[in-house]
Amino acid sequence: MGCVSCIARLKAIHGDNKRTEWLPVSVERPPEARLQGRYRMAKTIHAKVVIIGSGPAGYAAAIYAARAMLEPILIQGIQPGGQLTITTDVENYPGFADVIQGPWLMEQMQKQAEHVGTKIVTDHVTQAELAQRPFRLQCDSGDIYLADSLIIATGAQARWLGLPSEQKFKGYGVSACATCDGFFYRNKEVMVIGGGNTAVEEALFLTNFASKVAIVHRRNAFRAEKILQDRLFKHPKIEVVWDSVLHEVLGTESPLKVNRVRLKNLKSGALSERKVDGVFIAIGHTPASELFVGQVQMKASGYIITTNDSTATSVPGVFAAGDVSDDIYRQAVTAAGQGCMAALEAEKFLAAHEQDRAAAE
Ligand code: NAP
Repeated sequence: MGCVSCIARLKAIHGDNKRTEWLPVSVERPPEARLQGRYRMAKTIHAKVVIIGSGPAGYAAAIYAARAMLEPILIQGIQPGGQLTITTDVENYPGFADVIQGPWLMEQMQKQAEHVGTKIVTDHVTQAELAQRPFRLQCDSGDIYLADSLIIATGAQARWLGLPSEQKFKGYGVSACATCDGFFYRNKEVMVIGGGNTAVEEALFLTNFASKVAIVHRRNAFRAEKILQDRLFKHPKIEVVWDSVLHEVLGTESPLKVNRVRLKNLKSGALSERKVDGVFIAIGHTPASELFVGQVQMKASGYIITTNDSTATSVPGVFAAGDVSDDIYRQAVTAAGQGCMAALEAEKFLAAHEQDRAAAE
């Protein structure tokens, strides 16, 4: 079932504006979208700054680059707005005394970036060549962008456990997005796997629909913020299962549907079965850096390496900001801060190159 309610919600927010057409990460672009690239004339566009990604890092970079008169182009990717579009309440982004909604916040950031002069493009970069400047970006539509400087703000994607049964029931009772799919579990029993902020937030969110929520964590202490833990422990619908992992998802074949899970207690090694209708995997995220493998230095985990106190990558002129490079803070506000840094650094880089070029002439 994917992110059906997310699509509906985003359509409600964005209307039929083509720029904000949204496709969930797990869904392939429809053939018509690919054909668009085949039948219309592909363009090659040169820009001083191209930003890939439309989360807080991308939009903050765009706002600063546009206000520096660098005429940035921001390529939104397949999930415009990034992870905040699949979040509900946001209460830790400074500047808002009342709780705000993640999709609304991203819509405001997009409008602000456009308002100051960013060109926003709904496309998906399929290939990046960073060996020489201008950097070359090939898009799904067939368009090519040549960038004097590049800001990578592609964010991160939800991680999966890698169990064959998880894969089998993905979209049929196994999900990585409670905000997207929680709606389908009205008065049903669900389970959340994980112990970080995402897992605890998802468990709390699911109480809006489900009759019972079990949260299963592999240790006996959560890493989520204390305020979230307090809410979780106090909630009458939530049960915590410590020291346990998901061993197997079980269900019916026809229709394909989850109805039980097999858990493994890591202390005793014992296996047990529990009845559940849905399983939400919330075990963190993987940086969306595949496009740049072998081109910029990365950690083994895939996070792009930036120099200390900077967003500079191993390639001069290429900067990285937000969850694609930050494996420590990973907050919307830190991502926005890094986006700002990346734009300021790109501006400095371009100015230095302009000076070198002028001196050589
Ligand atoms: P996270 O903090 O990395 O937590 C991942 C959780 O999944 C951990 O509890 C981890 O267990 C568990 N886990 C990882 N691999 C597992 C496996 N193979 N099997 C079972 N459990 C596994 O990820 P996150 O919760 O998605 O948060 C990511 C970042 O975003 C964090 O910095 C977080 O603070 C931030 N965030 C903030 C908010 C907010 O402020 N409202 C909301 C969501 C996320 P261990 O604890 O044993 O390692």
